Amino acid sequence: MKGEPLARRIREGVCAKVARIRSTTGTTPCLATVLVGNARSSTVYVRAKRKGCESVGIKSLAIELPGDTTTEQAILAVDQLSNDGAVHGILIQHPVPRSVDRRALFERVPPAKDVDAITSVSLGRSILGMPSFSACTPQGIVRLLQEYGVPLEGADAVVIGRSPILGRPLASMLINAHATVTLCHSHTRNLADMVRRADVVIAAVGRPRFVQGEWIKPGAVVVDAGYNEGCVGDVDFEAALPRASWITPVPGGVGPMTLAILLEQSAEAAAQQLGVAP
Ligand code: NAP
Repeated sequence: MKGEPLARRIREGVCAKVARIRSTTGTTPCLATVLVGNARSSTVYVRAKRKGCESVGIKSLAIELPGDTTTEQAILAVDQLSNDGAVHGILIQHPVPRSVDRRALFERVPPAKDVDAITSVSLGRSILGMPSFSACTPQGIVRLLQEYGVPLEGADAVVIGRSPILGRPLASMLINAHATVTLCHSHTRNLADMVRRADVVIAAVGRPRFVQGEWIKPGAVVVDAGYNEGCVGDVDFEAALPRASWITPVPGGVGPMTLAILLEQSAEAAAQQLGVAP
């Protein structure tokens, strides 16, 4: 289940939408990225997001704060972006250093600019199936499953990982698509047995090759959201491949979808703020 072909189509749609926004309003959509500290992986992710913006005509504004930034200083930076009419989307790269109160910072992003759905308002609306921006990775995964015609209605889905940016919103999206969802985490007992019963398995753990091939029910669909050091996913791909009906590769599966959804939602945020009709 490759992500790039669908991601490319989404990016083409974003390009056209950005051009329309510019021609009707004279304004270029702008996504601000906020990076606190200089963790190597976060720096790489932010660079990729900024490059993605460039490729579709979205302006990108990079805010880089030192690793010893306090919560108050980080909040001030986000408040400035919130009040800046030329900035339409705000993406705070996570994780942020421990010295920063993550929740207090995330909640400063106004829902209209919350293009990665990190606020409690966006998450709550998404859980309830109300219109809002979605967390990019889970939304990318659901779109990928739809693209490949994976039936979700009545399916037994197991999501491994319950983070607020990935497993938790994804579980809600799958419930809203009428799957029966088991959300697993580090306290789950008999994880392997849970996975063995699943029609759809989503790994969002952050541990290399954690999901074993022999856990996969023959014919199950496997989505690997993990991305670990050395470009390795959370699923033992080689072992799972012969049993799965569909499986996402790492890289080239979920990753391109995350970026495509971020760009799509950034353009949509600009369209909404500038009053451009859908
Ligand atoms: P996270 O915040 O560290 O959450 C990891 C989750 O896995 C937690 O809920 C944790 O349980 C659970 N977990 C850890 N060990 C476990 C175990 N032994 N058994 C069952 N569950 C276990 O990570 P995240 O931010 O959600 O990211 C997860 C993975 O996705 C990472 O590899 C990350 O790099 C990747 N990712 C990829 C993209 C992309 O675009 N492709 C985007 C975001 C993240 P507890 O809650 O009990 O601690």
